[in-house]
Amino acid sequence: MTAAAISGGCQCGAVRYRAASELGYPHLCHCRMCQKASGNYFMPLAAVQRDEFALTRGEPSWFWSSDLVRRGFCGSCGTPLFYDVPGAEFINIMLGSLDDPEAVKPMAQSNTGRKLAWFHELDDLPIEPDEETPDRENAIAASNHQHPDHDTAEWPSGALS
Ligand SMILES: [Zn+2]
Ligand SMILES: [Zn+2]
Repeated sequence: MTAAAISGGCQCGAVRYRAASELGYPHLCHCRMCQKASGNYFMPLAAVQRDEFALTRGEPSWFWSSDLVRRGFCGSCGTPLFYDVPGAEFINIMLGSLDDPEAVKPMAQSNTGRKLAWFHELDDLPIEPDEETPDRENAIAASNHQHPDHDTAEWPSGALS
């Protein structure tokens, strides 16, 4: 399914992680807590064994969404990163934070009782023409503060800080 080492992190680069093994049970959770925690319509999650998982930069902040589950996110930029049941053998990673999100394809959905009624219509939405002007795109590219999709020796880099 995926290559041996999987890396990812938050948008600002303050928190980075690495999984040494394949991610298990990649799925979309539609529960209301995951909707809130992601600010989105669902949460894409997959599990990695805790001893195959390592933080490679920084520490996440945690919010206990119940007495049983805590959710890890970057305290600097807010990116949701982890769904953690302390004591479990696995920790779950938010798949949009992977450096290569294409590499881990969801295979299931859960908690579809809270799935938004029009979710299946999303891919049929009309596609807006790209309105961004080259000048604006260039200005965004030139002032990009998003961490690149690979590990970096130092961050922020001198050029982008
Ligand atoms: Zn961050
Ligand atoms: Zn959920």
